[in-house]
Formats: sequence, structure tokens, C-alpha cells
Amino acid sequence: MIDLRRHNSNFCPDHFVKFCRDQVARAIDEFEMIQPGQRALVAVSGGKDSLAVWDLLLESGYEADGLYVGLGIADYSDTSGEFAQRFARDRGLRLQVLDVPESYGYDIPSGARAARRVPCSACGLTKRHLFDQAAIDGGYDVLVTGHNLDDEAAVLFGNVLRWQTEYLARQHPVLPEGDGFPKKVKPLVRLSERETAAYCVLRGIDYMVEECPMAVGNRHLGYKEALNEIELASPGTKAAFYFGFLQRGAELLRVDGDRAAELGVCERCGSPAGAAICAFCRLVERAGGHTMDSRPVETGRQ
Ligand code: SF4
Repeated sequence: MIDLRRHNSNFCPDHFVKFCRDQVARAIDEFEMIQPGQRALVAVSGGKDSLAVWDLLLESGYEADGLYVGLGIADYSDTSGEFAQRFARDRGLRLQVLDVPESYGYDIPSGARAARRVPCSACGLTKRHLFDQAAIDGGYDVLVTGHNLDDEAAVLFGNVLRWQTEYLARQHPVLPEGDGFPKKVKPLVRLSERETAAYCVLRGIDYMVEECPMAVGNRHLGYKEALNEIELASPGTKAAFYFGFLQRGAELLRVDGDRAAELGVCERCGSPAGAAICAFCRLVERAGGHTMDSRPVETGRQ
């Protein structure tokens, strides 16, 4: 039996899998994430959340391909890439693979040092740019990420602690398409990390368990731990915090005009940019890389 204290329920394996599908269906419906017949591109890391969301979308009848981005983080990237490719190969799915060191000439650890950024900042910028670009270039209707309830609650917690109202105004499980950006959705926002891990085990999904070595000391992890303590003492608080914000707080902070206001086009890569050269191309330059090949190097069904 799987015990979910925040729902005050126990589930047998079959009903737990159904519970996960229902939670994803509810999130998709409630936030108008994906319409039937639309094509989705899933940002795949090889971890539990991205593989679970890919599986859940396929099981719900959506057309979904994957994109794995190799970040050059030593053994972690090699192994996570293997998990992603094995998942796709075993199920006959289409997975695009883009290797940052090969295509751009830098890796996240050394690139971040050269660009004087913390690794997660360089990594986040790199992934956002490459996933957005692949979704636009591939004509996908929506870009899907595996952010779960724990992730979103931790981000919200961090933004509230510092009253980062600009970030709070943008925190939503759906970011609309527009001005060169694809629509981005997070269908796992109704599921916790523990629940996506249990879903993977029950569905026979083999995923990368090790955390990225760059995550050590990450502030986001500290926020997750703090929220886990609160959740332990008071089950359901995490969901109440996040969904209460979406229902009652987000609207108060919403700013019209939105993220792409005043954006131009990057002279180098053609992506939306707030300056002549976009933040990604500046990162590549400072990291000593190159921008000659910006497309996935391997495509097609495995
Ligand atoms: S922990 Fe940081 S460096 Fe590692 S994959 Fe996540 S964002 Fe990238």
C-alpha cells in the first residue's frame, strides 16, 4: 500500500497509478496545458520526474517526443543520458540528443567558472535556451518540463522569502507562447517528488537516482528541506501554500505586457533578446565556446 498523508489515503499499486494519471489530467485541464492532437516536446533529464511526465503524457494519449541536453557534467551527464536513451529506445520513442560540449564547445562546470556564474545559473540559462529553441524549431505546440509540487513550492518559498515580486508574477504552471518563446507547461504540479518516484517504480521506469554534483549547497534544496519539515508536521501544507498562491496571490501580482515586452532578436542566434546579443550567446562567448551548430545532433526513433 502507498500511504499519502496529505490526501489521508492509502492506495494499492493500480489505484496509485490511476491517482497519478488523474492528477496530471486535472492539472492539464485546470490550467489548459495541452489540447488533444497537439504535439509536445518533453525536456528529458533521465531523472524520475521527466521520465514520469513523458510516460504519463503518452499513457494519456498525447503525442510527445523528448529532448535530452548533455551538459558535460562529468559522469553525471554520461549516466543520465544513458537512462534517457534507454527509456526512449525500450519504448520506441523519438528522443533528440543535444550535447553542449560537442555543439557549443563548453561544459557547465568550466563554462560557469569562465563566465563567473554559479553552475546552476549557467546550466539553467543553457537549458532554457536550448529547450525553447528546439520546441520552436521542431514546430511543437508545447514544451513540457517535469517540475513537480516540491519544485514549485520551493521556488515560491524562495521568492516569497526575498519578496521577488517580478518572479512571483511569472510563477505559474503555464507560460504562454509568444514573441519567439514556446508555450511551457508543468503537468506534474499536483504530484510530489515522492509520488513521481513511486510512480516510476510501479511503472518499471528505470531512472537516474543520483543528484547532480553541482546541486550541493544549492539554496533551492535548502528550501525543499525546510518545506519537507513543515509538511511532515502538517501534511498538505505544501500543496495549500502553492495552490493558495495560484488561486489568491498570483492574480494580485500579475503584470500586463509580460516577459517579452521590449525584446528584440539576438544578432547571433535569432532568439528573443533584451540586448543585441542574447544572454545565452554571451554565456557561450565568455565560456570560450562557439555557436556554429545549434541543432540537436542526433534525432529519430531509437
Ligand atoms: S543541479 Fe544545477 S547544474 Fe546540476 S543539472 Fe540542476 S541546474 Fe544544472
